[in-house]
Amino acid sequence: MQSLDKFEIISELARRRGFFWPASEIYGGISGFIVFGPLGSVLKRRIEDKLRDRFIRRLGFFEIESPVIMLGKVFEASGHVNNFREPMVTCKGCKRNFRADHLLQEFARMSSTETEKLSLQELMDQIDKKGIQCPECGGTFYNPQQFLTMFSTTLGPYSEEIGYGRPEAAQGIFVEFKRLYECVRGRLPFAVAQIGHALRNEISPRQGPIRLREFTIMDLELFFDPEEPHCSMLKEVEKEVLRLIPAEIRLRGEEKPIMVTADEALNKGYIKTEWQAFFMALSKRFLVELGIPEDKQRFIEKLDWEKAHYSAQGFDQEIYLERWGWVEISGHNYRTNYDLKCHMEASGIDLRVFKRAKTKEKSGRFFPHVVEPSFGSDRLVYATLEYAHKTKEGRTLLSLPRDVAPIQLNIFPLVSKEGLPEKAKQLHQKLINEGFMVEYDESGSIGRRYARADEVGIPLGITIDYQTLEDDTVTLRDRDTWRQVRNKIEKLSELLHVYFDYKIEFKDLGHPIEK
Ligand code: AMP
Repeated sequence: MQSLDKFEIISELARRRGFFWPASEIYGGISGFIVFGPLGSVLKRRIEDKLRDRFIRRLGFFEIESPVIMLGKVFEASGHVNNFREPMVTCKGCKRNFRADHLLQEFARMSSTETEKLSLQELMDQIDKKGIQCPECGGTFYNPQQFLTMFSTTLGPYSEEIGYGRPEAAQGIFVEFKRLYECVRGRLPFAVAQIGHALRNEISPRQGPIRLREFTIMDLELFFDPEEPHCSMLKEVEKEVLRLIPAEIRLRGEEKPIMVTADEALNKGYIKTEWQAFFMALSKRFLVELGIPEDKQRFIEKLDWEKAHYSAQGFDQEIYLERWGWVEISGHNYRTNYDLKCHMEASGIDLRVFKRAKTKEKSGRFFPHVVEPSFGSDRLVYATLEYAHKTKEGRTLLSLPRDVAPIQLNIFPLVSKEGLPEKAKQLHQKLINEGFMVEYDESGSIGRRYARADEVGIPLGITIDYQTLEDDTVTLRDRDTWRQVRNKIEKLSELLHVYFDYKIEFKDLGHPIEK
């Protein structure tokens, strides 16, 4: 039997234990849409909350929620209608459509750097030259076309207006800039984030949560005065080491990252703005906290022909995934004044801000500049699961970081009789009331119950045994080391809160039990 690769293992576990699965399966499913189940939706929400905490709350920024469907005019002005397109080929035999560049990447081992440079005609020439055929029926292809990857619709009963599903949450921030600037009482810098669904009509999504047609994006737009580009928070992360592949290295045909601290990257001119270096360093830290080691992360600068149409400098933060190699997990773009300018030209509304200088001549209106980190939380969920997945003594263990694990505690009566379930249920309810996410499990042998808990990444198991009835102590079991400690029930709540906050370690939760 062929062994499963990591993506298949994670997908199988995800389906079986309720993390995620393909949507509308009873109708055959539709690729590019998934459902996050009971465990997956909590894991996703906790990862998003952590993102919120690190990128919004702690920095004093704020969040908004704007519509997923926006007027066609918005995306005409922003340049998406013209640029948000991908090269597509149609098979002459089965009439299926494929991303032309992805075919070359998959079947001719070309890199995305090579394919992104190619015009439609050049893509076709390469497909012919390499003899690539339709993966479904072996047919040949018609000439490629550019396919608009935004979902369009008409609005209202008379189809009065064209609307698009937003492919990024950022435009919902730019078009509201005037009011948002009022909300912060007219000061720069300030940042606004939005975490919500984005829609992209991907041509052939076949990668589970990595490439979806509907996914969750977090866009954060930091507005600053280009004459005062200093980031006052940089100090906190300036010594963070980044594995960087600057454009100049890539242009020499190399891919080996250099190791530079965030401040060195700025001093050497690899990163153009302080805010961008700040967010890149923060993003690296964030992924380490999700369990993705430093050496499995890198920042790759986009070359001119790969950059998004709005970007003056762009880096993709990539992580290494077993099936696909390096995959983008977040994008970091210096969007300059591009978007505000476009929307001002198209709407006729002045989106500049006023600056009072010492002299009247120097006072005037200007466009703030924008730096943007952008994360997709579905990819974060998948990456967290892939890196958490381990096997120990032939058993599966999801070593999820304890501050994002969807269930924190599992309560087990040692046996389901003699008053143990009653005592265990009391503790279960007590811990729920104290704000923990707790599951109760009394079915099967204790060994099987531990194994089930490890497989979904529950950091701690609490076992109620005969001794509990005598002295009100319980056993706590660590998912990762399988070590056990014992402590009084009355001590648990306080200790557990600090434990899940990473302020103490497992050994601090009680007295060790010799096995
Ligand atoms: P981009 O605007 O293309 O740089 O995307 C920003 C982030 O959104 C990426 O780094 C991904 O994490 C995520 N993302 C983009 N496209 C998709 C997709 N089709 N499915 C899931 N996540 C995506």
